[in-house]
Amino acid sequence: MTAHRSKTARVFCIANQKGGVGKTTTAINLAAGLAAHQQRVLLVDLDPQGNATMGSGIDKSALKHNLYQVLIGEATVREARVTAESGGYDVLPANRELAGAEIDLVQMEDREQQLRQALATVGEDYDFVLIDCPPTLSLLTLNGLAAAHGVIIPMQCEYFALEGLSDLVNTIKRVHRNLNPDLRIIGLLRVMFDPRMTLQQQVSAQLESHFGDKVFSTIVPRNVRLAEAPSHGMPGVVYDRNSRGAQAYLSFGAEMIQRVKTLD
Ligand code: ATP
Ligand code: MG
Repeated sequence: MTAHRSKTARVFCIANQKGGVGKTTTAINLAAGLAAHQQRVLLVDLDPQGNATMGSGIDKSALKHNLYQVLIGEATVREARVTAESGGYDVLPANRELAGAEIDLVQMEDREQQLRQALATVGEDYDFVLIDCPPTLSLLTLNGLAAAHGVIIPMQCEYFALEGLSDLVNTIKRVHRNLNPDLRIIGLLRVMFDPRMTLQQQVSAQLESHFGDKVFSTIVPRNVRLAEAPSHGMPGVVYDRNSRGAQAYLSFGAEMIQRVKTLD
């Protein structure tokens, strides 16, 4: 059984249960990159850390409504979304309150489907909905995976990268079987890449041979401008558009626009 899903928006999770791999940086800059390509984008902050919210220039401590209230049915997406002015996209913002959703959701019927049901109400307002997942395989992340058409996995080309991937791949398979038959891996995005490191080149080549065209051709370099941008409340793509990091995410936006054309 497939529940109703929006007619227009394509929904993607940015997920990896490993911490600090570049999920939020990817979510923010892909949102801004897609907006720069005239796409209508909603960025959903599914992490109680609220980094995607802050990095989009929205003060997480001064929110009128937030994703927590949406998930427990106390606010609508229309009430809670705010515009990220510099990035040119909308944000469904979050803060620490969202951690409480784990507990509240457990008691609800269809506890894994709350985000999907909420997003269905605004599907026609957007071309892309991007969900920034927390570094866990929690009930929040399950809500993200149940709501999505696919998963974008940012990863660093490190020694244990492939090993860490198998937990996530197994979770995606289980969600595909039990909750969301539409779910698939859209692709692996190599981030924080340093071409001077032989090991990174080797792991990168390994990824390509294991996963073939599931590896995006865009490679995001390690670039300090991307790391500086959040403290200015702006996506890197806007903060320094000509930096190598920004250019990579603009290319990734273009690659995603092409990629979705190949999905059914
Ligand atoms: P968490 O698991 O805590 O949610 P995350 O996977 O969302 O982390 P980020 O917050 O995006 O990871 O990135 C971790 C750190 O690495 C941040 O300080 C960020 O600024 C930095 N960073 C991310 N991508 C790059 C890059 N391409 N070049 C340089 N620094 C980067
Ligand atoms: Mg994050």
